[in-house]
Amino acid sequence: MCGVVAIIHCEPSISSYQYQGEVQGEVYRALLTLQHRGQDAAGIVSYDFNSSHFYEEKNLGLVSQVFNKENLSALKGRMAIGHNRYATVGSDGRRDLQPMISSYPFGVAMAHNGNIVNYFKLKELLKNNHHIQMLSHNDLELILSLWGKAYLNSEKKIGPFTFARCTQALQYLFETLVGAYSTVGIIADQGVIAFRDPSGIKPLCFGKKLKEDGSFAYCFASEEVALNFLDYKFERDLLPGEIIFVSLKGEFHSWVYPKAPVKSSCMFEWVYFAAAESSLEGRSVYGARLALGEKLAIKVAALIALSKISPDIVVPVPDTGRTAAIALAEKLRLPYREGLMKNRYVQRSFILAEQNKREKAVELKLTPIKKEIEGKNILLVDDSIVRGTTSKKIISLLKKNGAGRITLALSCPPIKNACYYGIDFPNSSDLAANKMNALELAEFLGADSVVFIDQDDLYQSIYNNKNKSGLCTACVSGNYPTSIECGEDFALLRENHRG
Ligand code: SF4
Repeated sequence: MCGVVAIIHCEPSISSYQYQGEVQGEVYRALLTLQHRGQDAAGIVSYDFNSSHFYEEKNLGLVSQVFNKENLSALKGRMAIGHNRYATVGSDGRRDLQPMISSYPFGVAMAHNGNIVNYFKLKELLKNNHHIQMLSHNDLELILSLWGKAYLNSEKKIGPFTFARCTQALQYLFETLVGAYSTVGIIADQGVIAFRDPSGIKPLCFGKKLKEDGSFAYCFASEEVALNFLDYKFERDLLPGEIIFVSLKGEFHSWVYPKAPVKSSCMFEWVYFAAAESSLEGRSVYGARLALGEKLAIKVAALIALSKISPDIVVPVPDTGRTAAIALAEKLRLPYREGLMKNRYVQRSFILAEQNKREKAVELKLTPIKKEIEGKNILLVDDSIVRGTTSKKIISLLKKNGAGRITLALSCPPIKNACYYGIDFPNSSDLAANKMNALELAEFLGADSVVFIDQDDLYQSIYNNKNKSGLCTACVSGNYPTSIECGEDFALLRENHRG
């Protein structure tokens, strides 16, 4: 999972335009608000119409570590794209960082969020049939190459850039790429482009800002939180399979792939990944987490009624377990206590790429408040169990500090299946719930019991949709929105291409 942003400051009269240079600062601030989506690396690419030049800065580390006043001010131009990296395909090497630039056709830069499941198959195909050699292990390079190849093939003679030709080339991508790819890009001298895969797995929205001088600007971002922070008025989410192009003059074009299947937005965004203050597809992330907590309360109440558990307090695992825990405590009329405090300077452990990094981060990031937990039976609320690493450490920490019986309540159903779309669990064998039922999990984690929300409640909390449509729930249900024919090869080869 990554964060992407694209901003263009439009001006109908390009020749008289005196640009004041604020776009790179806006992209930087947008990336700061999207930092939770990826902490491995950050990058910005801008394009300056006057000098006909791309400018780029990208490196490993947090946004605040990669950028400073000097390197930001060197990113000239009034259109720019940015990326926060969460390692999926590709290693931690600099060559795999985004955004990426291609010289043809026209000069194009792109950044994306997601994974191409048939990446390795297409990479071989490009090499063997078209003599195109990838220079990185990042699937964005494949998107760039395929788009360039398709664009050039769509015309016998390459003329000026047109939106019609651009959509023709992207339609070829929609029919060739399998997976998730919410993408933003810059076309040199033309404008900014944004598109979302036909299943709409990863989020992408846009907003518009009218400036005092009468000009206006567009911002595309993974989450609404970035638009709000920059005072862009939220317009809407991109539709699955939608392509939007905004020219430097401010002309707005949109086209939607007519064969797009049913939308399948990643449910994990609401459960864990997205910022609580964002709304996705019209559903508030915070609101969905409260609803998940209320549904979970019904399951826990049934266990209390059967005298199977008798919690004294509700304790959230900060931060993403907190909202569901508040709703659950209110519903059960149990005291809510912050029994664990978070060191805000340690990165999210699940996001860290390697297991040993994850374990160290758990040790560092949470400190128990002994007086609140000592001798108490705890209803510990977390969003999910992936590998079980974090939950096991937390339960052991609570027990070591005098907690009584611990029930672990999860606002996500058991994650049993691999995700091939950009969340970092492409091997189902790594998943704790893939091998164990709730009883076995409790034993493995050192808890007295484990209770999960079920899939119906998950749907209702996010969409309140009886048809159970609109969400990707593949990691809990096994129903993948795309072909996963290449899924296992993808997981295997991906491990080999990690740094
Ligand atoms: S498989 Fe799970 S984590 Fe991956 S996109 Fe689907 S819902 Fe999200």
